[in-house]
Amino acid sequence: VYNFSAGPAVLPVSVLEQVRDEMLCLPGAGCSLLEMSHRDKRFLEILADAQAGIRELLGVSDDYEVLFLQGGARLQFSMIAANLLRGQDKAAEYMLTGSWSKKAIEEARKEGNVNVTWDGKANQYSQLPTAADYQIPADAPYLYYCSNETIQGVQFQSEPTCPGSVPLICDSSSDFLSRPLDIAKYGMLYACAQKNAGPAGVTVVIMRKDLLAKGSDDLPGYLLYRNHAENDSEWNTPPTFAIYVLGLVTQWLKKQGGLQAIEKQNHEKSQLLYDVIDAFPDFYQGHAKVDCRSKMNVTFKLPSDELQAAFLAEAASQQLQSLKGHRSVGGIRASLYNAMPVAGAAKLADLMRAFAEKNA
Ligand code: PLP
Repeated sequence: VYNFSAGPAVLPVSVLEQVRDEMLCLPGAGCSLLEMSHRDKRFLEILADAQAGIRELLGVSDDYEVLFLQGGARLQFSMIAANLLRGQDKAAEYMLTGSWSKKAIEEARKEGNVNVTWDGKANQYSQLPTAADYQIPADAPYLYYCSNETIQGVQFQSEPTCPGSVPLICDSSSDFLSRPLDIAKYGMLYACAQKNAGPAGVTVVIMRKDLLAKGSDDLPGYLLYRNHAENDSEWNTPPTFAIYVLGLVTQWLKKQGGLQAIEKQNHEKSQLLYDVIDAFPDFYQGHAKVDCRSKMNVTFKLPSDELQAAFLAEAASQQLQSLKGHRSVGGIRASLYNAMPVAGAAKLADLMRAFAEKNA
């Protein structure tokens, strides 16, 4: 079966096999990782290895902390604004590009002033802004954007333009570790792990160290980033199992040749599907404008609900699973996270081509 689910967690088979093999007893540990203290030397090594894996893959310098938090990406919507916006007169800048940035804005507004830098509503969030479409005040507390809108299937091909004085903050939940990035451009980049990087339960936060000083001590302790940084992600019990699997995924990525190699593969997989969409423009209606197409979540519609249902049934009969679009936008969504092999995307492309030829 090829699983095109948008999440949680599409993982490489070899990682799942290793997790299965080590579940009852972590080699050399005498117990399961699930039973091990989070302060055990062995677990501290696992945590350090997972951090090192992320640092190596993305080239994260010592100017940044790599934190492992809980509460999912959604808690970050609140934590970012609570630490970096609360109590300020200036408005934080937010790019409204789809469902997830919309939700981030709703949470940030509870903490302070938000200016919507750019709003993609007029085009049903099928498009992203170019540098000519917005201007960021040099004294804004930060500029926030979502690099890949998982529901609409639009993805920034590069970072938005942001004055050097303004920290750039990115929700990279659904394209984390899918391509190389220049982390030095960011004040903070975060991702819930459960797409490309590991199981649900851990959220990775990469934060420039100077930003850690900003949150007020009045915040609830869990919400203060520096508590996590000062305690190396052990301020409270971290999600040990999720961190362990995340570490295995970083090792797997290194074996694939790192992020450049995985980006190439992600490009190849998504292009297989977009080529079919472009070959049958009257049959498949792609949601994203061509230059904003996501390599992670390919979204499109068929001419009628009946054809859509028939397509999903045909796909299921060919072991192509979880292709139904998000309930808020409908249509089809094929998620092509790192663990999806090229053969899976090719099989879906073949089905799309045959289905269009038969039904167009
Ligand atoms: N941001 C993006 C881009 C997402 O895709 C998701 C979940 O799908 C979230 C945020 C929310 O993540 P969580 O459920 O971990 O809070």
